[in-house]
Amino acid sequence: MDYKVRCRQTIIAETSDFKDNYAHDIQMYDVPPMGEMSLEDFQELGFDRLKVLRLIETTNCRGDLKTLEDRKKALYDSLKSDGLKYYANLLFADGSNSQSEEHSLSRMKDHISHFILRLVYCHDPEQSKWFMNQEVEFFKLRFSSLDKKGVEHLLSINNLDCIPISLDEKLDLVEELTSSSGKVTNIDIIDIYKVNFEKVIDLVRGRKIYLKAGMAYITHMDIISVFVSYFREILVAGLESAKSMYYNISDDERLTRYLTGLPSAFSGMARVVWSTTATPIDKLNDLSKSSYPLCMRTLHEALCNNSHLKNSGRMQYGLFLKGIGVTLEDALRFWSHAFAKKIDGVAFEKKYAYSIRHYFGKEGRQTNYTPYGCQKIISSAVGPGEYHGCPFRHMDRDSLCQKLTSYGIFATNTTEILDLAKDGQYHLACAKYFEVVHNKPASKPLLHPNAYFAESRVILTEDDDANKDIDKDRFPQGTTGTPSNGSSRRNDRYSTPSRNTDFTGTPKRNDRYSTPSRNADGTNTPLRKVQRTNYQTPSRDIKMTPVNIAELLNDDDLAEFMNTE
Ligand code: SF4
Repeated sequence: MDYKVRCRQTIIAETSDFKDNYAHDIQMYDVPPMGEMSLEDFQELGFDRLKVLRLIETTNCRGDLKTLEDRKKALYDSLKSDGLKYYANLLFADGSNSQSEEHSLSRMKDHISHFILRLVYCHDPEQSKWFMNQEVEFFKLRFSSLDKKGVEHLLSINNLDCIPISLDEKLDLVEELTSSSGKVTNIDIIDIYKVNFEKVIDLVRGRKIYLKAGMAYITHMDIISVFVSYFREILVAGLESAKSMYYNISDDERLTRYLTGLPSAFSGMARVVWSTTATPIDKLNDLSKSSYPLCMRTLHEALCNNSHLKNSGRMQYGLFLKGIGVTLEDALRFWSHAFAKKIDGVAFEKKYAYSIRHYFGKEGRQTNYTPYGCQKIISSAVGPGEYHGCPFRHMDRDSLCQKLTSYGIFATNTTEILDLAKDGQYHLACAKYFEVVHNKPASKPLLHPNAYFAESRVILTEDDDANKDIDKDRFPQGTTGTPSNGSSRRNDRYSTPSRNTDFTGTPKRNDRYSTPSRNADGTNTPLRKVQRTNYQTPSRDIKMTPVNIAELLNDDDLAEFMNTE
């Protein structure tokens, strides 16, 4: 992207230029934008685009939105309510409308903002993948709004070698076309295109089209596949070239600071949900089956089986436990007991206790480290003998299949989860897993393991409220954690204690979970309530600001307190 960034200059462009440069509502972003703009505009455009992509991601993770139209409508509402009307307009643009000035401006913002985020997400393969997934999803949603004229216009602009076949050719191939695609019902009115088969590999793989002499015959309903694969190619190449573009601007600290900080500037939806009451460690086994996301369940099982976890696993699981309300004292007891088969208490104190106290903010810089979010877990590297990471991303298909089957998940659900994981839709795979385990989808997108846990407790507690005749002190024994119906789920449950008992399990709805305020000091959190009811709240007795541990630890810090395997 060729930018000379100057302060206090707004985007300079005539509306007539927009029309020349942006001939269609959908862009392939194959040509970088040119021109001058103020740094403020640049920052605002980048921030807005990131908000759009985050909204796409969360909409996509919602299990209650079954169809593309549902997702589109929900996204449209979110965009509108977030003040992103330009993008909302583009979402439903049919591609053939005449351009108003506002419409042209939307296209220009779409163009520039896309290239800004390329600079942000071009460095790390995992982040690039995330960016591509959201952009492709946005593309698909927008493409579905195009009318026939809009699609043909897009085809002609992009020179895609997708040739409509004549009626004579259609009549010659009518049998083949009808038997290869269930969609060909009336050959006279349906448009059929022929395209090089390499451009529609997904359709070829799905055996949905007629192939002849290297050409695939597709209906206009399938033409989106041609565009999506073309769009992906452009994105892959574009992210590569963005790296060198970034190099060109790397001496401008205003830009680089902004570009590197942008991903974390909008992490609200992926934030940790802190438990405000203590979770007793003797219930962790049961909770791991009923309320843990698969990443934490896997770590818990590995810890129980091996009496050990390597450093990265201890950090991922230890911080998660802290987030769900395991106190420091309980954490020390829990890990010491879990390691007991391999090392005695003295050795544990020497090798591991310091690190636990450290991430609880009781040693070193006394920082209140926050549990890892999905993004960090998904992008972590996992070596042999390690169990951290996200199983949907890091486990091979067979092992994941075996694991899900061993939990009693039905084959159809298992296949669906495996397919989502294979497509890199880890959050969707996780959402499906949640839905299967709880017999209902989560009410909101789950982008953090602790948010998963909190949502699970909400659902299971609601069920408890609805089934007051069930013994509230009953805990599951040797269950698989994957119910096939409502009643078996109830047996898997870690039930909600009465508030006037000493038991400090998952709280009732009103005092359930909240994200601590940044200046949390224990007085403006539910701690007061907790103290009155004799519950313990972890790490709330000192003033601390939650931070991301990964951003604060340098190699020396890690070596200092994590030097053990
Ligand atoms: S998507 Fe997130 S919560 Fe789910 S298993 Fe992966 S890392 Fe854990």
